[in-house]
Amino acid sequence: LATYRTDCRFYNGYKPCKHKRLCEGCDLFEARGPHIGVISLEALGAVLRSTCLLPAIRRQFPNAVVTWITYPNAVDLLRNHPEIDQIIPFQDRNIPALNHLRFDRLFCVDKSLQAGGLSKSLNADIKLGFSIDDHGSIVPWNHEADYMYRLGLDDQLKFFTNQKPETQLTTESLGLEWKRDEYRLFLTDEEHHRSAQIRKDARTNSKGIIGFNTGCSKLYPYKKFTVERSIEVVRAWRQNFPEWTVFLLGGLEDRERQHQMKQAFSSDSKVVNTPTDEGMRSGAVWIDACDLIFSGDSLGMHIAIARSKPVIAWFGLSCEQEIDLYDRGIKLKSEVSCSPCWKRSCQNEPKCYDQVKVATVIEATKALIDKL
Ligand code: SF4
Repeated sequence: LATYRTDCRFYNGYKPCKHKRLCEGCDLFEARGPHIGVISLEALGAVLRSTCLLPAIRRQFPNAVVTWITYPNAVDLLRNHPEIDQIIPFQDRNIPALNHLRFDRLFCVDKSLQAGGLSKSLNADIKLGFSIDDHGSIVPWNHEADYMYRLGLDDQLKFFTNQKPETQLTTESLGLEWKRDEYRLFLTDEEHHRSAQIRKDARTNSKGIIGFNTGCSKLYPYKKFTVERSIEVVRAWRQNFPEWTVFLLGGLEDRERQHQMKQAFSSDSKVVNTPTDEGMRSGAVWIDACDLIFSGDSLGMHIAIARSKPVIAWFGLSCEQEIDLYDRGIKLKSEVSCSPCWKRSCQNEPKCYDQVKVATVIEATKALIDKL
């Protein structure tokens, strides 16, 4: 009878393990450590940012088997991450499996009814992060999560007093050691190759590539510039950095806006409208090909940070101190007194997204280019 090492951390019982070999005679066996569950369901940028937990988890539990539970639309952001052993999309067909699993430690990152309910219902010896009570109110599992819990309830604390980045808040609230670990999005070999090719093609007639993440999620529509302001910024880049190519980067929801932007530069081959309909992995490849990225506080910004890009990030409604650019970038703050506010819509004029000066963007771009 063949030998199966079901006690190996790489064993999945379904297909060849990541080392692509049979168990018999294998010298890469690693005994399974504790089973760690991470619940990080949404939003997309926040899920990607939560991967900053993985180095801290590995430091404490080197042989852990890490199972990450997330919504199906976030799975692409986690694919190919070497520190995640199993990704389980949170959807109906996976409920029986989730109910059956037993975790040694379960970390719930999100403060939401869905994530809290899931953390409450799953089998685990130790639960950390967030849960819900019998009435559906969100509550912390552990005292380390108190500060992050309070941030959600106290705008003065969240908007002005707190100076910790979200990566630190999340790590500490789960009782893990924070060492300013980065969050990462890992490309496959094929994606690396594609990124290199895009870069090579663009650089045949330019010094480098400025990536402009043009949009943001529909949930917070004010995290993006108007089309008119976007065109002004691109025009200023082209005037100030004529040897640089500009990539317009975005997703499906940015398609029409990007089309209008490109139309303003229809005869300029150095303004490139990149595909908006090829999914997040393709978007990450285009971002990876750039030398620097300009973005609002959105998924595109997080992907750029997770690909270790120098980023110029502008902030209006959200809290700039919650984002760590890891000393590679520059933060710009909208010049409005009502910022931050975390509003999904507002009646104030002028709007935050109109109060980041084009000249300031150019200055920041020059500063980053000079450092490359
Ligand atoms: S209140 Fe101010 S910061 Fe908030 S969305 Fe409106 S303009 Fe932007």
